[in-house]
Amino acid sequence: MKVGNGMTLGNFIQIKDPGSVTGNIDNYIQTSCNGLYLHEYGHTIQSRHYGLAYLFNIGIPSIISAAGNGEHCQKWFERQASRYAKYYFGPSIWTPTIDLYHPTNR
Ligand SMILES: [Zn+2]
Repeated sequence: MKVGNGMTLGNFIQIKDPGSVTGNIDNYIQTSCNGLYLHEYGHTIQSRHYGLAYLFNIGIPSIISAAGNGEHCQKWFERQASRYAKYYFGPSIWTPTIDLYHPTNR
């Protein structure tokens, strides 16, 4: 499965997705990039919650860890974004495969 990467600032989500939308856009968002669209929406919820502190406590550390040693998805702010997304979209959408790429509790 193709994997993209994404970045969120405020309500703006930027996703580099090597795939292409075919069929229903809702299905695509739920199933493509191993849940990246859902996870990034979790960051918009964080941004609303933390306000400007999001930039310094989550945004910048996330950019640094994404370029780091592969432990990015284990950082507290990444797991929190996934938990927010899982809660927002509902646990039935959050498949075990999505949880592998965007863990909520590990
Ligand atoms: Zn993230």
